[in-house]
Amino acid sequence: MNSVLENPTTTRHPASELDYMPLRELRAVQLRRLQATVTRAWQNVKLFRERMDERGLTPADIASLDDIARLPFTTKADLRDTYPYGLFASPMKDIVRLHASSGTTGKPIVVAYTQQDIEVWTSVLVRCFAGCGLHRGDIMQIAYGYGLFTGGLGAHYGAEGLGAAVVPASGGHADRQIMLMKDFGVTAMCCTPTYFLHLIDRAAEMGIDLRELPLRAGIFGAEPWTQSMREHIERMSGIEAFDIYGLSEIIGPGVGCECRQHDGLHIFEDHFYPEIVDPETGAVLPHGCEGELVLTTLSKQAMPMIRYRTRDITMLLPEPCACGRTLRRIARIGRRSDDMLIIRGVNVFPSQIETALLQTEGTLPHYQIVLSRVQGLDQLEVQVEVTPHMFNDKIGALQELHAKLQNSLDRVLGIRVRVSLVEAHTIERSEGKAKRVIDRRTS
Ligand SMILES: [Zn+2]
Repeated sequence: MNSVLENPTTTRHPASELDYMPLRELRAVQLRRLQATVTRAWQNVKLFRERMDERGLTPADIASLDDIARLPFTTKADLRDTYPYGLFASPMKDIVRLHASSGTTGKPIVVAYTQQDIEVWTSVLVRCFAGCGLHRGDIMQIAYGYGLFTGGLGAHYGAEGLGAAVVPASGGHADRQIMLMKDFGVTAMCCTPTYFLHLIDRAAEMGIDLRELPLRAGIFGAEPWTQSMREHIERMSGIEAFDIYGLSEIIGPGVGCECRQHDGLHIFEDHFYPEIVDPETGAVLPHGCEGELVLTTLSKQAMPMIRYRTRDITMLLPEPCACGRTLRRIARIGRRSDDMLIIRGVNVFPSQIETALLQTEGTLPHYQIVLSRVQGLDQLEVQVEVTPHMFNDKIGALQELHAKLQNSLDRVLGIRVRVSLVEAHTIERSEGKAKRVIDRRTS
């Protein structure tokens, strides 16, 4: 009998051993891999070599991990400008997989993997899932989209690598998802947090209480979500909800994940080197300071990424985690610098609105932010669904809730916004990443 299966909560999963590598050893591995990555990119990627030349740098100048700050940044624009294959460091005969972003405007960005890259990707996802307490014997339903998006196939390979039984449901078809969860005895779900919210609602309509199913864990990612959202999901479904982080440019899902402490996400930093920089100046910030996450791949062959600007705002947590892993943690990502809305000169993040809404009793976690322009002035309207009994109740209760939300949003955002309470199921549900902001400004 497999001891991991017998006692999954107290036994360290063999796949997690690397998470506890002594720090001195970890730093040595990182430096060796950083030097190899810089050399590989310098030899094979024209754009990177040109930028190194401009700075008068060669790979030999990287003598310590601190020297990483001397290297040039890479941005999403670089991926677009070199579309499709300009940043590849491997010949096509060595590439076994291509993925691409959906690309809301114009061309998508393309990412590539060698066989070894796929193996690294699988291994970090196995470490994610093991850190969430999953193991051989679990039944994992993957409801991320399969296809060019990295979510579905990434999680799929990781779950298989763990030895779990995989249900490759892909996205959409909520009723079927719920039937599979129930009939197959699914124990863990992988999807976006907003899609899981949709499944919670749909299950209730179908007369199924998720709390009575074997389902015990959800690994949610691909969009920012708040602690309040986690509490709502856990309360409504009876599962333990984990935040997983990743981006296609670096590898896909599996760059980092929460452990069972739920206090930040461990970065698998033997493969991805994290820095936090000032988003304006690019200067490296110390641990505990909030800024933009910058990642460097340390083992990627097909498409090494040097100092990639993620646009995600977070910090490296200064304290070690209670779980004993030596891997550093980032704080939960609540916002991206791209998400920032500037309304009448004030910076507003959708996550601030989400937190304020979810902390107010009577609201549902379905909301939308509508921007418009009236006589040259930007207006922000928050539409939020409220629980059905609020509308059945006497009118006073609705007015009271409206006033409470208005106050709380005014205080958090520092500007006057319009609040509209709408009935449950009014706001369109998402099958993947939620569309929170509708911009109706014309210019
Ligand atoms: Zn931990």
